[in-house]
Amino acid sequence: MSDSIFTKIIKREIPATIVYEDDKVIAFNDIHPSAPVHILVVPKKPIVNLLDAAPEDAPLLGYLLEAAARIARDAGIGESGFRIIINNGKDGGQTVDHLHVHILGGKTLPITF
Ligand code: 5GP
Repeated sequence: MSDSIFTKIIKREIPATIVYEDDKVIAFNDIHPSAPVHILVVPKKPIVNLLDAAPEDAPLLGYLLEAAARIARDAGIGESGFRIIINNGKDGGQTVDHLHVHILGGKTLPITF
């Protein structure tokens, strides 16, 4: 399987504004932000989406959310609040087939479904 765009960012093959990285996850600004703060948090393991995650990925999924909260706080939106979105598959609006958490904030977000 060819590398996803996000794996290419992890490998530094394409540029991104990286705001956090450790051995398990990387976080960078979304190229088309939908809010003043729009960060993507991506596991380095190339899991396609939640449906592709195995039971043994549960600690990584938990870590992804814990890291997202820390990254949101470090981005200055911990107090004001933020939204976490994980799109899964076509009807869920997933366009990049590599699991990622959207962190959105920096303004009062509209409730839209
Ligand atoms: P999805 O629709 O799959 O949940 O979200 C994919 C997100 O990745 C979109 O918000 C899109 O703007 C972002 N994105 C797509 N390609 C790139 C890229 O090359 N660099 C960055 N930083 N974001 C990207």
